[in-house]
Amino acid sequence: MASSDRLRTELLKYFSSMETREPAISRVEYEGAKIAIYTRNLQTFLDRDRIARELVSMIKKRVVIRPDPELRLPPEEASERISKVLGDGYKLIFDEPLGEIVIESNSPSICNLDRSETLKNLMDEIRWVIRILREPMMPSKTIDRIKQYVFWDTKDKLEILRSIGEKVFRPQTFPPKDVRITILGGGQQVGRSSILVQTTESNILLDCGLSAGANNSLDMFPRFDTVPELIERLDAVIISHSHLDHIGLVPYLFKYGYRGPVYCVEPSIPLMALEQFDYISVAEKEGSFAYYTGNEVKMALQYCIPLRYGVVTNVTPDIRITFYNAGHIMGSGMVHIHIGEGLHNIVYTGDFKFEKSKTLDASAHRFPRIETLIMESTYGATPVPYTLEESEDMLAQKITATINRGGKVLIPVPAIGRAQEIMLVLNKLLAEKKMSETPVFLDGLVIEATSIHTAYPDFLASELQQRLRDGENVFMSEYFTAVRSESQRLEVLESRMPAVVMSTSGMLEGGPAIRYFREFAGDDLNSLIFVSYQVEGTLGRTLLKGSREVTLINEEGKSEVINVKMEVDKVDGFSGHSSRQQLLSFLRRITPKPQNLILVHGEPESIGSLARSASKILNANIYGPKNLETILLHPS
Ligand SMILES: [Zn+2]
Repeated sequence: MASSDRLRTELLKYFSSMETREPAISRVEYEGAKIAIYTRNLQTFLDRDRIARELVSMIKKRVVIRPDPELRLPPEEASERISKVLGDGYKLIFDEPLGEIVIESNSPSICNLDRSETLKNLMDEIRWVIRILREPMMPSKTIDRIKQYVFWDTKDKLEILRSIGEKVFRPQTFPPKDVRITILGGGQQVGRSSILVQTTESNILLDCGLSAGANNSLDMFPRFDTVPELIERLDAVIISHSHLDHIGLVPYLFKYGYRGPVYCVEPSIPLMALEQFDYISVAEKEGSFAYYTGNEVKMALQYCIPLRYGVVTNVTPDIRITFYNAGHIMGSGMVHIHIGEGLHNIVYTGDFKFEKSKTLDASAHRFPRIETLIMESTYGATPVPYTLEESEDMLAQKITATINRGGKVLIPVPAIGRAQEIMLVLNKLLAEKKMSETPVFLDGLVIEATSIHTAYPDFLASELQQRLRDGENVFMSEYFTAVRSESQRLEVLESRMPAVVMSTSGMLEGGPAIRYFREFAGDDLNSLIFVSYQVEGTLGRTLLKGSREVTLINEEGKSEVINVKMEVDKVDGFSGHSSRQQLLSFLRRITPKPQNLILVHGEPESIGSLARSASKILNANIYGPKNLETILLHPS
């Protein structure tokens, strides 16, 4: 290990108390944000959980105990033992450099062994670490693609993990003093979220998104251009969740030389890949310029460090982060940032919903300490006057009215989050016979995003978890049909039968939703129902504002005027964002109370309205910074 003599001394002190013939440590390696201790001492390996726990509380760093090659059973013998215990229905991948066996399976009985006594005993016996990788219930191209990257050239992988560790565990050069927060994007706007947090020692970027509605790069990108040597100085990128306005430009950083960690909650990795590859293919289809290629997406994925909620992780010598559930989409996290051993604590909410939804539990509101809260404000000026149940009834009525008059319903949905929520809502309405029975077609990225959801039950609402673990695909039902080919799509487009179509994109900015819109728009029997936020500048927003003559670019690249006769409507309340009331109730309930409140990710009206109300709730300095503004925090 290159640096940190202090760490070495601490480890030696800990292990010297053990009386063993074999040395407890054969080598110590940096493994991303963890310290990996390789051992050929059987007792140390058997006691790995206790030792790792004790070391974490002693050295305040995450530790993993790994078997030295000499300690492991040879792969053939290990496979045999595994097959005796598990039977069949799985695939094994031997990750030799790490001493890890990955068991890939979609059999509930195997996947549910994760963290069980059986699995622990099996590991003790074969002396390899076993990791279970749950496969999705429907095929997912994205997950297949990522697997190739995750299990790519393992020498490269170790090298990447080591280089990240060297940055994370480097000795601290500067004593902690002040903290600077600079808004590079998402200040007084919804889109291109990106916030630079700087301490005397570190530079970290919270989110790295793009603006969907923008038509030039200066408006589309966070203002990276204003930070000298950003790429060289950046220690870590921290991702709150995998929507393009938060992750769209991560690969762009890699294109310009960034080679550091990207921290996120585990399911964010496939969701991020899905969104970024889609961004490239949409750009290609439209003949516009994609700001990065698949290679840079792949590289960014290789530098991703998946975390679970509640795990404290060192990201630089003076910064530790912990993710908390944000309730917005699967894998969305509020980031707690602890700076300089108690000097200052920031909570960045990312997008969050402070109410239980069908897909997810309500966001967290209790944190160890907070001096500064950076909060999203999307619906800061938009109270939702209905309960979730009332919203469901409204949706049911609107759909039923359209179906009964022989029309079709188009529901444009963002692939990740709202799509799965609406699927669960429609399933419930159909099961309770609250809406007319009708076929529901799913098109675009909805299908792929839904399969990814089925691979991560632990990250979904408590009551969905067990059903998914038992092998039930909770999102699909007999009413749903996935549109998987162009001929199938043509059938749906040309059919005269009433139906519901759920398709991406959610703001009618691309994807198959546009095809359906063009086909359905001219008929006043049909309806268009929005269920998610429509950003300024998108076709969705234009239609919601009342425009009934819109111009689309058709497949031949020519502009085409569409006269919209179909009913255009929206149902609020399904959003993955907190409503105005929920934002305020979050501020009332958050524990402990922050001294500074920084409002981002909202249009000026929302921020202004929220700031006025927040000042009556919190005794805090309230900021609504524009892009490029810096807030200097002077911790005492
Ligand atoms: Zn979002």
